[in-house]
Amino acid sequence: MATHSHSRQDASPHVSSYYASRTAPRDRIESLSGMEEADVAVVGGGLAGLTTALELSARGLSVVLLEAQRIGWGASGRNGGFVSQGFAQNVDAIERRVGIERAKQLHALSVDGVRYVESTISNAGRKDIIGGRGWLHVIRHKRTQELRQWQQKLADQYDADLEFLDRAAVSGLLETGIYHAGVIDHRSFHIDPLAYTELVLELCVASGVRVHEGTRISDIGPSGTEYLVRSADGQVRAQNVVVATSAYGGPVRAVEQSVLPVATYVVVSRSYDANIGDVIRYRGCITDQRRAGDYYRILEDDHGLRLLWGGRITTRRSEPSQLVAMLHNDIAGVYPQLGDIEIEYGWSGLMGYARHKMPIVGEISPGLFVATAFGGHGLNTTAAAGLAVADAIAGSRDRMALFGNYGIAWGGGWLGRIATQAEYMRLRLADYIDEI
Ligand SMILES: Cc1cc2nc3c(=O)[nH]c(=O)nc-3n(C[C@H](O)[C@H](O)[C@H](O)COP(=O)(O)OP(=O)(O)OC[C@H]3O[C@@H](n4cnc5c(N)ncnc54)[C@H](O)[C@@H]3O)c2cc1C
Repeated sequence: MATHSHSRQDASPHVSSYYASRTAPRDRIESLSGMEEADVAVVGGGLAGLTTALELSARGLSVVLLEAQRIGWGASGRNGGFVSQGFAQNVDAIERRVGIERAKQLHALSVDGVRYVESTISNAGRKDIIGGRGWLHVIRHKRTQELRQWQQKLADQYDADLEFLDRAAVSGLLETGIYHAGVIDHRSFHIDPLAYTELVLELCVASGVRVHEGTRISDIGPSGTEYLVRSADGQVRAQNVVVATSAYGGPVRAVEQSVLPVATYVVVSRSYDANIGDVIRYRGCITDQRRAGDYYRILEDDHGLRLLWGGRITTRRSEPSQLVAMLHNDIAGVYPQLGDIEIEYGWSGLMGYARHKMPIVGEISPGLFVATAFGGHGLNTTAAAGLAVADAIAGSRDRMALFGNYGIAWGGGWLGRIATQAEYMRLRLADYIDEI
């Protein structure tokens, strides 16, 4: 199976972000050294790896979780925090590929993922992690009938709880003339994602998962009937291995080559005592339904209200100064009255996309499992994948089988990157033409 090696890197703390500024610093968990044995070695400490590890442990298996940097250091600890049903791929495309019945079953898994996040938070008594409820999808073009059809379809066939808002109702919530209509998904909510990863880490440790940070796995190879998972200073011998390394460079070449890293950006304003709360009165998640759209939400902390604004994708990382300026312009384009808003935090993160835009969740050779490529829709789907893989290793494969139509496939290397960037430019142009 194999593999290629990475040079050893020191574990860095979490990326500087609004979330990190609110998270109590903790010592790095000790890295792997010497030999350990476990039923399962999980590689990658984002929400895919964390949830899988927690659920494996709940099913009575011994687990070692190995993370190159810090738990939650990747996309999981720095995303927009929107938790909602569905996948990165839209339902029409999923239906075309797998048929309506399988599409409904997959959708039900994605809803289970939303419920999982919510119940994990509430069972731990950590409602402070949830910042607001509901998701308002707005459109900038005038084809409100299309939005109604989308709402109707999700309500009729996928049991979604959606409410249509006309232009006047949207402008009652958002002080801008740019949107023509909207739909609220009442089951969504938003969270502090780094606080959530720290919570799942605590639950893992409490349930006996052995966690090692600062442990980059360079090689996964067979050892008799088991696997040997190697870092620079240690090894784990395990019956099963789960690779959950997403876009940050994993040890299994076939998996890594199936996942295209796509960067996206987030900024958070300085506490702003002017009128953010009057301009944006809706306190849930907000996205425009453009093909490459904005997503934003109001944050409330001890200093007052802030605006978190995310958007844009690229296959290259931009300079942070450009990043802040670009998103600042995007904010002013929608809310000119916030044109002088001051930005305090700006950061980027990598999402992993497969060509089919669906998660890759399965067993790629006996005992070697993968849970990756959640794209920009990972908060619920990593939970769905964690449950599916843990079930499969514990002997029940029904959930995992539902992902069977979406296997590993070549992401296209640098050609794939150019193609993604070109596609993004095409989508932005199409949105622009729509809105004229
Ligand atoms: C800016 C941004 C905004 C987003 N907004 C949202 C949102 O609002 N809602 C939503 O649902 N989704 C959102 N997403 C997507 C979501 O964050 C991801 O889909 C999800 O977090 C992926 O989880 P993961 O565990 O697969 O990957 P990650 O969280 O990236 O974790 C992978 C981990 O593997 C580790 N690793 C890599 N290689 C090795 C190795 N060789 N050995 C050991 N460890 C290794 C990395 O260090 C990393 O910590 C967003 C993503 C970004 C970047």
